[in-house]
Amino acid sequence: MSLTGTNRVAVVTGASAGIGYSTAIGLARAGFRLAVGARREDKLSALVDELARITGEKPFAAPLDVTDKASVDAFVQGVVEHYGQVNVLVNNAGKALGVDYIDERANEEDWEVMLDTNVLGLLRMTKRLVPYLVESGDGHIINLGSTAGHEAYAGGGVYCATKFAVRAITGSLRQELLGKPVRITSIDPGMVETEFSVVRYHGDTSRAAQVYEGLRPLNSEDVADCIVFAATRPAHVNIDNMILKSIDQAAAKRFARKGQ
Ligand code: NAP
Repeated sequence: MSLTGTNRVAVVTGASAGIGYSTAIGLARAGFRLAVGARREDKLSALVDELARITGEKPFAAPLDVTDKASVDAFVQGVVEHYGQVNVLVNNAGKALGVDYIDERANEEDWEVMLDTNVLGLLRMTKRLVPYLVESGDGHIINLGSTAGHEAYAGGGVYCATKFAVRAITGSLRQELLGKPVRITSIDPGMVETEFSVVRYHGDTSRAAQVYEGLRPLNSEDVADCIVFAATRPAHVNIDNMILKSIDQAAAKRFARKGQ
């Protein structure tokens, strides 16, 4: 029988925008109780109001920087004290920074932030929550990978490396958690129109807009639908991996753009 969110707690990292925001809303609509974190508290408070409208209950929301161990510790402690249980962890917080080639011009600080957020941040959250996920009796880790974890492209060396790493970590967790009541899923989208490109181009909104010009990218709700689907399968059904792309995208750098 399909699971619902009733009496289940879902943690979503990077919930202040994009896929994380839509996922929190989607999980709330499926009946989950939410714990949401990100660095921008003003954006989180807008989400809190919307979640409260949907569920009739104020969710747990707190600042979270997955690159900062103390912030991760405080967030996890806050969730556990608030709900006393965690059933689902959506490791969504992540980013690409720049499109540098790996040569003498590359910005090494961008490399460090990507690795720290997308790989170490995901590991920090997972390490701390695995015991609670096991204890819940129906735990689930859902990692945001990417098609960049399947296909490397020029200018994506480090971002792709982080998403290949997410795929490796997901695979290892599947082996390590075998026999325990914790499912492990990787959701791997292609291009999704969110704040992702604005972040990638360091705030250059016109450069970011060009990424989506003349095509129909996925939106954050499309990805959230897949996450909610995976989270609501019967307890014995593990969706290993879902790869989703816009109909206008065939590969990392191959698009059908109107007028081209
Ligand atoms: P987005 O709109 O930029 O949202 C990213 C979220 O991550 C924001 O809520 C941001 O919140 C949060 N975040 C960033 N750094 C953080 C940190 N250090 N600690 C905690 N939260 C942090 O991007 P998105 O497209 O929704 O991306 C979500 C995930 O999907 C990422 O893992 C990304 O790699 C993956 N993905 C995206 C695409 C795409 O094309 N958009 C494709 C495949 C995979 P704050 O800034 O408030 O902290």
